[in-house]
Amino acid sequence: MIDRNKAHTPSQCPCGTGLTYTACCGRYLEQAEIPDHAEALMRSRYTAYTLDRDDYLLATWHHSTRPAVLNHISGTPHKWLGLTVKRHEQPAPDRAIVEFFARSKVGGRAHRLHEISRFVHENGRWFYIDGDMI
Ligand SMILES: [Zn+2]
Repeated sequence: MIDRNKAHTPSQCPCGTGLTYTACCGRYLEQAEIPDHAEALMRSRYTAYTLDRDDYLLATWHHSTRPAVLNHISGTPHKWLGLTVKRHEQPAPDRAIVEFFARSKVGGRAHRLHEISRFVHENGRWFYIDGDMI
């Protein structure tokens, strides 16, 4: 039976913009749209982590630093809780950095990742290069 009292609420994007997934990172993960700036790419990669979308993570990783496979913390429940983008700078047309916090729970313990990620614009799209954990 369909529960008629349950209002349809479109799910919010995990990256925390307040937009629906379809209007936010879903455009990149599902519709093959290309993020036009590094912060949008960074947000869509965070969302890809929450959804275990290895295909998207690898596709947006620059070939010079991309791992062959992703190292998942296998066996440990890893729950992503939220993303805060602190800074987005573009010191050159083809270079950008994004500083962010990502909160998660690993094996029941709260964990906060603070990273400055580097991005490069190449062949008409942004790619993740690497990041420094702080
Ligand atoms: Zn999003």
